[in-house]
Amino acid sequence: MAAELSQTRRLTRPMIGELIERHSLTPSRALGQNFLCEPGTVDKIVRLAGVEEGDRVIEIGPGLGSLTLGLADAGAQVIAIEADRYLLPGIREVLETAGLAHRVSLVHGDAMKLDWTTLVGGHDWKVVANLPYNVSTPLILDLLRDQPTLTDWLVMVQQEAGERLAAGSGSRTYGIPSVLLGYWASARIVDTVSNSVFLPRPRVSSALLKVHRHETLPISAPFDRYATLVRTGFNQRRKMLRRSLSALLTAEQMTAAGVDPTSRAEMLTPAQWGSLALL
Ligand code: SAM
Repeated sequence: MAAELSQTRRLTRPMIGELIERHSLTPSRALGQNFLCEPGTVDKIVRLAGVEEGDRVIEIGPGLGSLTLGLADAGAQVIAIEADRYLLPGIREVLETAGLAHRVSLVHGDAMKLDWTTLVGGHDWKVVANLPYNVSTPLILDLLRDQPTLTDWLVMVQQEAGERLAAGSGSRTYGIPSVLLGYWASARIVDTVSNSVFLPRPRVSSALLKVHRHETLPISAPFDRYATLVRTGFNQRRKMLRRSLSALLTAEQMTAAGVDPTSRAEMLTPAQWGSLALL
Protein backbone atom coordinates (compact mmCIF):
# COMPACT_ATOMS: atom_id res chain seq x y z
CA MET A 1 0.00 0.00 0.00
CA ALA A 2 2.76 2.48 0.95
CA ALA A 3 4.41 2.55 -2.49
CA GLU A 4 1.11 3.02 -4.32
CA LEU A 5 -0.12 5.69 -1.88
CA SER A 6 3.08 7.73 -2.06
CA GLN A 7 2.86 7.63 -5.84
CA THR A 8 -0.89 8.22 -6.44
CA ARG A 9 -1.75 10.21 -3.30
CA ARG A 10 -5.20 8.64 -3.35
CA LEU A 11 -6.93 5.91 -1.33
CA THR A 12 -8.59 3.00 -3.13
CA ARG A 13 -11.07 0.43 -1.79
CA PRO A 14 -8.37 -2.21 -1.04
CA MET A 15 -6.26 0.40 0.78
CA ILE A 16 -9.19 1.50 2.95
CA GLY A 17 -9.98 -2.15 3.66
CA GLU A 18 -6.38 -2.69 4.70
CA LEU A 19 -6.35 0.39 6.95
CA ILE A 20 -9.60 -0.67 8.63
CA GLU A 21 -8.18 -4.12 9.31
CA ARG A 22 -4.68 -3.08 10.36
CA HIS A 23 -5.97 -0.39 12.75
CA SER A 24 -8.71 -2.72 14.07
CA LEU A 25 -11.47 -0.26 13.18
CA THR A 26 -15.20 -0.89 13.11
CA PRO A 27 -16.85 1.87 11.03
CA SER A 28 -19.41 3.54 13.27
CA ARG A 29 -22.89 4.12 11.87
CA ALA A 30 -23.62 6.64 14.63
CA LEU A 31 -20.69 8.75 13.40
CA GLY A 32 -21.69 8.31 9.76
CA GLN A 33 -18.45 6.54 8.87
CA ASN A 34 -18.71 5.75 5.17
CA PHE A 35 -15.31 6.25 3.65
CA LEU A 36 -14.81 7.45 0.09
CA CYS A 37 -12.89 4.83 -1.80
CA GLU A 38 -12.98 6.10 -5.37
CA PRO A 39 -10.25 8.55 -6.39
CA GLY A 40 -12.37 9.90 -9.28
CA THR A 41 -15.03 11.14 -6.85
CA VAL A 42 -12.38 12.83 -4.70
CA ASP A 43 -11.00 14.61 -7.77
CA LYS A 44 -14.50 15.69 -8.79
CA ILE A 45 -15.20 17.17 -5.34
CA VAL A 46 -11.91 19.08 -5.34
CA ARG A 47 -12.64 20.39 -8.83
CA LEU A 48 -16.25 21.41 -8.07
CA ALA A 49 -15.05 23.14 -4.90
CA GLY A 50 -12.58 25.13 -7.01
CA VAL A 51 -9.74 24.39 -4.59
CA GLU A 52 -6.48 25.98 -5.67
CA GLU A 53 -2.91 26.24 -4.47
CA GLY A 54 -2.78 28.26 -1.24
CA ASP A 55 -6.52 28.05 -0.42
CA ARG A 56 -7.48 27.64 3.22
CA VAL A 57 -9.85 24.71 3.54
CA ILE A 58 -11.76 23.27 6.48
CA GLU A 59 -12.66 19.62 6.24
CA ILE A 60 -15.13 18.27 8.78
CA GLY A 61 -14.82 14.53 9.33
CA PRO A 62 -11.72 13.51 7.33
CA GLY A 63 -12.10 9.84 8.29
CA LEU A 64 -9.07 8.00 6.92
CA GLY A 65 -8.10 10.90 4.69
CA SER A 66 -9.58 10.09 1.26
CA LEU A 67 -10.68 13.65 0.56
CA THR A 68 -7.97 15.24 2.70
CA LEU A 69 -5.40 13.80 0.29
CA GLY A 70 -7.16 15.41 -2.70
CA LEU A 71 -7.39 18.79 -0.98
CA ALA A 72 -3.77 18.82 0.18
CA ASP A 73 -2.60 17.50 -3.18
CA ALA A 74 -4.30 20.49 -4.86
CA GLY A 75 -2.09 22.73 -2.73
CA ALA A 76 -4.60 23.74 -0.05
CA GLN A 77 -3.74 24.31 3.58
CA VAL A 78 -6.26 22.11 5.36
CA ILE A 79 -7.66 22.03 8.87
CA ALA A 80 -9.30 18.62 9.28
CA ILE A 81 -11.58 18.10 12.28
CA GLU A 82 -12.24 14.50 13.25
CA ALA A 83 -14.38 13.41 16.21
CA ASP A 84 -13.24 9.77 16.35
CA ARG A 85 -9.85 9.44 18.01
CA TYR A 86 -9.51 5.84 16.85
CA LEU A 87 -9.21 7.09 13.24
CA LEU A 88 -6.37 9.48 13.96
CA PRO A 89 -3.43 7.01 13.73
CA GLY A 90 -4.80 5.82 10.38
CA ILE A 91 -5.16 9.26 8.80
CA ARG A 92 -1.76 10.35 10.17
CA GLU A 93 -0.17 7.33 8.53
CA VAL A 94 -1.97 8.07 5.25
CA LEU A 95 -0.90 11.72 5.12
CA GLU A 96 2.70 10.96 6.06
CA THR A 97 3.00 8.16 3.53
CA ALA A 98 1.61 10.42 0.80
CA GLY A 99 4.06 13.18 1.80
CA LEU A 100 1.21 15.63 2.47
CA ALA A 101 1.19 15.82 6.28
CA HIS A 102 2.77 19.30 6.23
CA ARG A 103 -0.34 20.71 4.52
CA VAL A 104 -2.84 19.37 7.08
CA SER A 105 -3.56 20.32 10.69
CA LEU A 106 -5.47 17.49 12.24
CA VAL A 107 -7.82 18.56 15.04
CA HIS A 108 -9.45 15.99 17.27
CA GLY A 109 -12.87 17.30 18.23
CA ASP A 110 -16.60 17.38 17.73
CA ALA A 111 -17.40 19.95 15.03
CA MET A 112 -20.70 20.71 16.76
CA LYS A 113 -18.94 21.84 19.94
CA LEU A 114 -15.63 23.24 18.76
CA ASP A 115 -14.31 26.72 19.54
CA TRP A 116 -14.58 27.69 15.87
CA THR A 117 -13.70 31.34 16.29
CA THR A 118 -10.26 30.50 17.66
CA LEU A 119 -9.75 27.89 14.95
CA VAL A 120 -10.56 30.00 11.89
CA GLY A 121 -9.18 33.37 13.03
CA GLY A 122 -9.98 36.26 10.71
CA HIS A 123 -9.32 34.53 7.36
CA ASP A 124 -11.75 33.39 4.69
CA TRP A 125 -12.14 29.62 4.36
CA LYS A 126 -13.68 27.12 2.03
CA VAL A 127 -15.45 24.19 3.62
CA VAL A 128 -15.02 20.98 1.66
CA ALA A 129 -16.20 17.79 3.30
CA ASN A 130 -18.01 14.52 3.11
CA LEU A 131 -20.10 15.41 6.14
CA PRO A 132 -21.36 13.07 8.83
CA TYR A 133 -24.96 12.83 7.60
CA ASN A 134 -26.63 12.81 11.02
CA VAL A 135 -25.40 16.32 11.85
CA SER A 136 -25.01 17.90 8.42
CA THR A 137 -28.05 20.23 8.44
CA PRO A 138 -27.55 21.72 11.95
CA LEU A 139 -23.82 21.94 11.31
CA ILE A 140 -24.26 23.92 8.07
CA LEU A 141 -26.92 26.21 9.54
CA ASP A 142 -25.06 26.85 12.81
CA LEU A 143 -21.77 27.59 11.04
CA LEU A 144 -23.43 29.91 8.52
CA ARG A 145 -24.93 31.82 11.45
CA ASP A 146 -21.84 31.89 13.67
CA GLN A 147 -18.80 31.90 11.37
CA PRO A 148 -18.91 34.58 8.67
CA THR A 149 -15.42 33.69 7.41
CA LEU A 150 -16.65 30.32 6.08
CA THR A 151 -17.61 31.68 2.67
CA ASP A 152 -17.83 28.84 0.14
CA TRP A 153 -18.87 25.29 0.73
CA LEU A 154 -18.85 22.11 -1.32
CA VAL A 155 -20.15 19.33 0.87
CA MET A 156 -21.40 15.82 0.39
CA VAL A 157 -24.65 15.31 2.27
CA GLN A 158 -27.55 12.88 2.28
CA GLN A 159 -29.44 13.68 -0.93
CA GLU A 160 -32.71 14.36 0.88
CA ALA A 161 -31.06 16.82 3.27
CA GLY A 162 -29.29 18.55 0.40
CA GLU A 163 -32.54 18.91 -1.54
CA ARG A 164 -34.22 20.45 1.49
CA LEU A 165 -31.40 22.94 2.01
CA ALA A 166 -31.30 23.95 -1.66
CA ALA A 167 -35.06 24.04 -2.32
CA GLY A 168 -36.82 27.16 -3.63
CA SER A 169 -40.22 28.45 -2.48
CA GLY A 170 -43.22 26.46 -3.65
CA SER A 171 -41.30 23.22 -4.11
CA ARG A 172 -42.21 20.04 -2.24
CA THR A 173 -38.94 19.99 -0.31
CA TYR A 174 -38.95 23.70 0.63
CA GLY A 175 -39.07 24.03 4.40
CA ILE A 176 -37.41 25.42 7.52
CA PRO A 177 -33.81 24.47 6.50
CA SER A 178 -34.22 26.08 3.04
CA VAL A 179 -35.54 29.36 4.43
CA LEU A 180 -33.01 29.56 7.28
CA LEU A 181 -30.15 28.90 4.85
CA GLY A 182 -31.56 31.56 2.50
CA TYR A 183 -30.92 34.24 5.11
CA TRP A 184 -27.15 33.64 4.93
CA ALA A 185 -26.44 32.02 1.61
CA SER A 186 -27.60 30.46 -1.64
CA ALA A 187 -27.30 26.73 -2.25
CA ARG A 188 -27.67 24.24 -5.07
CA ILE A 189 -27.10 20.55 -5.68
CA VAL A 190 -24.32 20.18 -8.22
CA ASP A 191 -24.19 16.40 -8.51
CA THR A 192 -25.41 13.15 -7.04
CA VAL A 193 -23.08 10.40 -5.87
CA SER A 194 -23.56 6.64 -6.13
CA ASN A 195 -23.49 4.50 -2.96
CA SER A 196 -20.86 2.33 -4.60
CA VAL A 197 -18.04 4.83 -4.00
CA PHE A 198 -18.13 4.29 -0.22
CA LEU A 199 -16.89 1.62 2.15
CA PRO A 200 -19.12 0.58 3.83
CA ARG A 201 -21.97 1.53 1.49
CA PRO A 202 -24.48 3.92 3.06
CA ARG A 203 -28.18 3.02 2.84
CA VAL A 204 -29.11 6.51 1.68
CA SER A 205 -28.28 8.40 -1.51
CA SER A 206 -25.76 11.23 -1.48
CA ALA A 207 -25.44 14.58 -3.22
CA LEU A 208 -22.90 17.34 -3.56
CA LEU A 209 -24.19 20.66 -2.24
CA LYS A 210 -22.58 23.97 -3.14
CA VAL A 211 -23.23 26.84 -0.75
CA HIS A 212 -22.17 30.42 -1.37
CA ARG A 213 -22.46 32.94 1.46
CA HIS A 214 -24.15 36.21 0.46
CA GLU A 215 -21.50 38.92 0.30
CA THR A 216 -24.07 41.38 1.65
CA LEU A 217 -26.98 40.01 3.61
CA PRO A 218 -30.13 40.69 1.55
CA ILE A 219 -32.39 40.56 4.61
CA SER A 220 -32.04 43.32 7.17
CA ALA A 221 -34.35 41.90 9.85
CA PRO A 222 -32.59 40.27 12.81
CA PHE A 223 -32.01 36.55 12.24
CA ASP A 224 -33.62 35.46 15.52
CA ARG A 225 -36.90 37.15 14.68
CA TYR A 226 -36.77 35.75 11.12
CA ALA A 227 -36.09 32.22 12.45
CA THR A 228 -38.94 32.44 14.98
CA LEU A 229 -41.43 33.45 12.28
CA VAL A 230 -40.21 30.77 9.87
CA ARG A 231 -40.37 27.99 12.47
CA THR A 232 -43.82 29.10 13.64
CA GLY A 233 -45.14 29.35 10.07
CA PHE A 234 -43.81 25.97 8.96
CA ASN A 235 -44.93 24.18 12.12
CA GLN A 236 -48.42 24.45 10.64
CA ARG A 237 -47.44 24.50 6.99
CA ARG A 238 -50.88 23.54 5.67
CA LYS A 239 -52.52 26.52 7.35
CA MET A 240 -52.81 30.03 5.97
CA LEU A 241 -50.31 32.47 7.42
CA ARG A 242 -53.02 34.57 9.04
CA ARG A 243 -53.73 31.51 11.21
CA SER A 244 -50.28 29.97 11.67
CA LEU A 245 -48.66 33.34 12.51
CA SER A 246 -51.65 34.83 14.36
CA ALA A 247 -49.79 34.93 17.68
CA LEU A 248 -47.02 37.02 16.12
CA LEU A 249 -48.57 39.20 13.38
CA THR A 250 -51.97 40.49 12.29
CA ALA A 251 -53.32 39.94 8.77
CA GLU A 252 -53.16 43.71 8.25
CA GLN A 253 -49.46 43.75 9.06
CA MET A 254 -48.83 40.94 6.58
CA THR A 255 -50.68 42.81 3.85
CA ALA A 256 -48.70 45.96 4.66
CA ALA A 257 -45.48 43.94 4.22
CA GLY A 258 -46.67 42.82 0.78
CA VAL A 259 -47.53 39.27 1.87
CA ASP A 260 -50.93 37.72 1.21
CA PRO A 261 -52.21 36.52 4.63
CA THR A 262 -54.10 33.66 2.94
CA SER A 263 -50.90 32.16 1.51
CA ARG A 264 -49.09 29.25 3.15
CA ALA A 265 -45.59 29.15 4.61
CA GLU A 266 -44.13 27.22 1.68
CA MET A 267 -45.13 29.93 -0.83
CA LEU A 268 -42.99 32.69 0.74
CA THR A 269 -39.46 33.38 -0.46
CA PRO A 270 -36.73 34.18 2.09
CA ALA A 271 -37.05 37.85 1.09
CA GLN A 272 -40.78 37.79 1.97
CA TRP A 273 -40.04 36.13 5.31
CA GLY A 274 -37.52 38.92 5.79
CA SER A 275 -40.22 41.56 5.17
CA LEU A 276 -42.46 39.94 7.77
CA ALA A 277 -39.60 39.78 10.27
CA LEU A 278 -39.08 43.54 9.95
CA LEU A 279 -42.53 44.25 11.41
N1 SAM B 1 -14.11 12.36 4.70
C1 SAM B 1 -14.01 10.93 4.87
C2 SAM B 1 -14.24 10.27 3.54
O1 SAM B 1 -14.82 10.92 2.66
O2 SAM B 1 -13.83 9.12 3.39
C3 SAM B 1 -14.99 10.40 5.92
C4 SAM B 1 -16.40 10.86 5.76
S1 SAM B 1 -17.55 10.06 6.84
C5 SAM B 1 -19.02 10.27 5.88
C6 SAM B 1 -17.83 11.23 8.14
C7 SAM B 1 -16.67 11.45 9.09
O3 SAM B 1 -17.06 12.44 10.06
C8 SAM B 1 -16.25 10.24 9.91
O4 SAM B 1 -14.86 10.13 9.88
C9 SAM B 1 -16.73 10.53 11.34
O5 SAM B 1 -15.94 9.93 12.34
C10 SAM B 1 -16.63 12.04 11.36
N2 SAM B 1 -17.55 12.70 12.31
C11 SAM B 1 -18.77 12.31 12.69
N3 SAM B 1 -19.35 13.21 13.53
C12 SAM B 1 -18.44 14.22 13.65
C13 SAM B 1 -18.42 15.44 14.38
N4 SAM B 1 -19.46 15.82 15.13
N5 SAM B 1 -17.32 16.23 14.31
C14 SAM B 1 -16.25 15.86 13.52
N6 SAM B 1 -16.22 14.70 12.83
C15 SAM B 1 -17.29 13.90 12.87
